[in-house]
Amino acid sequence: MNTAAPPRPHLQPRRPIQELPDELISQIAAGEVVERPASVVRELVDNALDAGATQITVRLLAGGVRLISVEDDGYGIPPGELATALKRHATSKIRNLAELEAVDTMGFRGEALAAIHSIADVSLLSRHLDAPDAHGWLLQGRTGEITPGARTPGTTVEVRELFYATPARRKFLKTDATELAHCLEAVRRHALARPEVGFSVWHEGKLVEQWRAQRVEGGDETAVLSPRLADVLGDDFLAESLPVQWQGTGLRVWGRVGLPDHARARADRQFAYVNGRYVRDKVITHAARSAYEDVLHGQRQPVYALFVEIDPARVDVNVHPTKIEVRFRDSREVHQAVRHAVENALAAPRAALAASTVNATPSSHTWATEATVPSPPLMRPQTQLGLDVNATPPSFASAPAHAWLRRDERPVGQQVNDLAALWRPTSAPAVTNVVPNAAPVAAPTTPTPAEATWPLGRAIAQLHGVYVLAENAQGLVLVDMHAAHERIVYERLKLQLDTAGDSPLPSQPLLIPATFAATPSEVATAETYTDTLRHLGLDISPFSPQTLAVRAVPAALAQGQVVELARSVLAELAQHDAATVVQRARNELLATMACHGAVRANRKLTLEEMNALLRQMEATERSDQCNHGRPTWRQLSLRELDALFLRGR
Ligand code: ADP
Ligand code: MG
Repeated sequence: MNTAAPPRPHLQPRRPIQELPDELISQIAAGEVVERPASVVRELVDNALDAGATQITVRLLAGGVRLISVEDDGYGIPPGELATALKRHATSKIRNLAELEAVDTMGFRGEALAAIHSIADVSLLSRHLDAPDAHGWLLQGRTGEITPGARTPGTTVEVRELFYATPARRKFLKTDATELAHCLEAVRRHALARPEVGFSVWHEGKLVEQWRAQRVEGGDETAVLSPRLADVLGDDFLAESLPVQWQGTGLRVWGRVGLPDHARARADRQFAYVNGRYVRDKVITHAARSAYEDVLHGQRQPVYALFVEIDPARVDVNVHPTKIEVRFRDSREVHQAVRHAVENALAAPRAALAASTVNATPSSHTWATEATVPSPPLMRPQTQLGLDVNATPPSFASAPAHAWLRRDERPVGQQVNDLAALWRPTSAPAVTNVVPNAAPVAAPTTPTPAEATWPLGRAIAQLHGVYVLAENAQGLVLVDMHAAHERIVYERLKLQLDTAGDSPLPSQPLLIPATFAATPSEVATAETYTDTLRHLGLDISPFSPQTLAVRAVPAALAQGQVVELARSVLAELAQHDAATVVQRARNELLATMACHGAVRANRKLTLEEMNALLRQMEATERSDQCNHGRPTWRQLSLRELDALFLRGR
């Protein structure tokens, strides 16, 4: 029997195992560390920051391919160590495993300079801070020659002809303009994390970016960060974002997150940092995006600069050659922290925040005594909108921006009644002073001091049955009344379910069940989801094989279009599988229900109702966006109005 293996012509004859030469090892490592000029920029700026630089200058030629020079005013390198700096696994930053686990420098692997040196022409010019010489020393990487060179204390690293030794790699590079853009992005990432350091970037002899060092006063990091954010991301970013501050045990999240209205089509303005290091981290990205879930729908991408500060022992930074990825010991904890931090920042209604800065003057007036909306003798406390016009709103002027933002603390049942009142048919005798069509709206002409502090102002009119107009300290406020009310109802439903624990939404039986002709799939869904429906306060059951009967609805929505409500909830449920529906789709279901519970367009509102709507918006979390992520109100400032009429030109 012939046991010889069949010939394998594609196999080379076996060669003995050998250790690779150092240079080749570095070139292999360079493949991981240096993808393009921007990678070199990042490593060199990392080094400058680790050396305590306060001013970093980056000079580029041909998008960084011909030259990358990074100059810093850090502590420098003594001449005796220059050659070592280019060696593999040579570092001044860690000495042992314990130091690796507690590392607080950007670099620690000691391979960046070696890798770059193996694929480009590197020179180091450095003058050590404590050196006796009045000049620096220049090391030519190619020749290993060291000569004196003029320099103030600090280091200049020059990298020429990147990838000259690995032409295959060079072919992957894009145009100079593209490479320059990547280099700028690399510097931008550093600049956001280190506002106290000045940065400038030159390309082909022209200054392309300059971010001045921010003075750190009193250690208020947000105050230091803000001007840098404005410099790097534009002045708009500050106006269009909110501060984040969240503190847990051994874990802190801070920074700024963009308003939902200013989300972008691409995720190109999401800056996340862990202990000052820019990272691309799925946990953080996902947590941040999910914090926007309820206020930003579809594919839109939020903008943010978020800083996670965590005990170094709870994060491993040594998982990726370029250190752009990290591994958290407890990623759930980080996810929750980031999500809560961002959610909190987004939840507070913004009108009050704006007003609290505009109306900073303390006021002795309280709402209870100053509210000038006259109470007609017959007026019921709750109006058609289900909004309590007689409630005593908190004083905005005297409280800090957030202090007054309390959840509705009335018993759930009572809130439900407010909402139930929503559906009183329009034809019912209006108890409040309905404004006649033709007559001008009779709003008091001068606001009282208390009214002047209402963030969303006092209602003055309703426009085409769609918008509410109000006057506030800044100018004119326009409110999309359906969108706004939908959010209010939605937040209430969520709150009711949250506070109810495992018990269902309060439900109200219908005197006469509402029946409707149902498709077989609607009947099937109603039968499958009986429990889920009950949990949501709905009783929908077969009346005949082709008919469904709605016997009870959430008390909050009792006056609504019951059949429409049932149909949309069934349609929504049909898309989900039973196991996940209550947790994952809960909010979608509640949003659908809220849409049916919210006041419709073309519904005539009284001034009291409009004012009540505005006050509810001020007190409802996330009320600046409707359930579909669109804005519910807009401010037209006096200045914008003046501009419209060319006043003061
Ligand atoms: P790592 O940063 O991981 O230590 P590098 O290869 O980037 O490795 O740098 C090697 C060493 O060279 C550093 O540990 C540091 O001591 C020194 N070095 C590099 N760049 C600078 C600089 N700009 N200023 C002072 N020292 C530097
Ligand atoms: Mg380094």
